[in-house]
Amino acid sequence: MANPTGFLTVERRDRGYEDAETRTHNYREFVHPLPYTEVQRQASRCMDCGIPYCHNGCPVNNLIPDFNNLVHRESWRGALETLHSTNNFPEFTGRVCPAPCEASCTLNLQDNPVTIKTIECQIVDRGWEEGWIQPQVAKKKTGKNVAVVGSGPSGLAAAQQLARAGHRVTVFEKNDRIGGLLRYGIPDFKMEKHLIDRRMRQMEAEGVTFQPGVEVGAAMPVSMVLADYDAVVMSGGAELPRDLDIEGRTLDGIHFAMDFLTQQNRRVAGDPESKAAPRGTISAKGLDVVVIGGGDTGSDCIGTSNRHGAKTVTQLEIMPKPPAHENKSLTWPDWPLKLRTSSSHEEGAERDFSVVTKRAIGENGKVEALECVRVEWVNGAGGRMEMREVEGSMFYLKADLVLLAMGFLSARHNGLVAQSGAAVDPRGNVKANVIDYKTTVPKVYSCGDMRRGQSLVVWAIREGRQCARAVDEFLMGSSELPR
Ligand SMILES: Cc1cc2nc3c(=O)[nH]c(=O)nc-3n(C[C@H](O)[C@H](O)[C@H](O)COP(=O)(O)OP(=O)(O)OC[C@H]3O[C@@H](n4cnc5c(N)ncnc54)[C@H](O)[C@@H]3O)c2cc1C
Ligand code: SF4
Repeated sequence: MANPTGFLTVERRDRGYEDAETRTHNYREFVHPLPYTEVQRQASRCMDCGIPYCHNGCPVNNLIPDFNNLVHRESWRGALETLHSTNNFPEFTGRVCPAPCEASCTLNLQDNPVTIKTIECQIVDRGWEEGWIQPQVAKKKTGKNVAVVGSGPSGLAAAQQLARAGHRVTVFEKNDRIGGLLRYGIPDFKMEKHLIDRRMRQMEAEGVTFQPGVEVGAAMPVSMVLADYDAVVMSGGAELPRDLDIEGRTLDGIHFAMDFLTQQNRRVAGDPESKAAPRGTISAKGLDVVVIGGGDTGSDCIGTSNRHGAKTVTQLEIMPKPPAHENKSLTWPDWPLKLRTSSSHEEGAERDFSVVTKRAIGENGKVEALECVRVEWVNGAGGRMEMREVEGSMFYLKADLVLLAMGFLSARHNGLVAQSGAAVDPRGNVKANVIDYKTTVPKVYSCGDMRRGQSLVVWAIREGRQCARAVDEFLMGSSELPR
């Protein structure tokens, strides 16, 4: 146990942010790390609970009480090893994970959980600073070739694990750069992209080959990959965005969130934006922006719009406003439904709940306003919540730019999935279970959002790791990779 009375004597303290006025003038990360001595104090608040709910709440089952104890005892290198034993990329999760571990922490019963995400991030950031993180090259090569299709966090985790097991791994990626949504979805102000490049260099030294700009199922047929590789991992993400089927949808100025976000990430990287913007440059500068959808993607659109210099930003959510505080005795240690205010919201946005968009109105082919209506959610047949429009509640919202951030339906089927012949489940995701990650096609595996549907980086890492073990077992008869 870190410190038997730490939770009583040390106040929770977390990383601070650059002020909103300053940070919205650039795309850099704006979180200020804690001094290492303060991280040690924070780690000492861990009670090393008999049942560590945080460990169970974390999708990769990070050994949280163990690394807290090691940090408290100033064994940072030991903490790094413990952290890496369950998570290939803690510098990604330490920045963008919503931290279900902290929701599960016993101290969250009193709203002051251990600052687990910060401790995680600072362990790994320190590891890189100190030069402790080096390539882990497999001592014995197996002579087996594995293709990983898709370079998001699931594909990267699978590739790294498989290379460390001694296989020759090639990662195919249709985009110009490696990283999936880490690279092109999540904005730089949440996670700078040099962090991906640094991991790529480590993975290359471990024997992973990256082939960006290659779409399997298009220029490179799936049959060719199947012929050349002993196993194939499909980790192509859930790329099919949910659309809004309303009158006026085709007006200029209405875009999918990913077109807007990808274009900005390419701009920050110094890459030509054209590939991500089939309909030209999307700018929010001086505009009234409406973001439809209340999740992470919507929040990233708000942060990006404010950095463009939008005049106003409004976010519409179809669901009712959740309570500000959860009822702990009903929800803990599970992830509670409650109102979440992201750093992007804090930078400036109006939020409106229980609103449905009925029509987009424009002139000369350009969107100018949205016609909306308020809804209420009532108990319907069989106890299911049903949405009802509130009579006389119609209103209009000025909108020069509308960003659709209503989530993703499933994997894209044309190309890779269709050519592979792998069956999909009723939701349209590639069918495979979480025991062996096998698709219905021999020697083809699937993991991450392509298999589970739209999710989180930490779940993608978990699936990539577990899928790698399944592939290793298939190739070698047994595996020493952790599950
Ligand atoms: C805007 C946005 C913000 C988000 N923010 C967060 C956040 O803050 N925290 C969090 O935890 N999660 C967040 N998420 C979710 C998270 O990014 C995803 O759950 C995660 O990236 C999924 O990882 P993946 O590896 O399964 O797929 P992806 O990251 O989607 O990667 C799939 C890759 O496969 C490639 N690909 C697809 N088909 C082919 C093919 N045929 N050939 C070659 N390559 C192919 C794609 O180009 C892509 O690069 C966010 C998602 C979005 C859209
Ligand atoms: S990966 Fe996410 S859930 Fe797991 S310890 Fe880190 S912040 Fe918590």
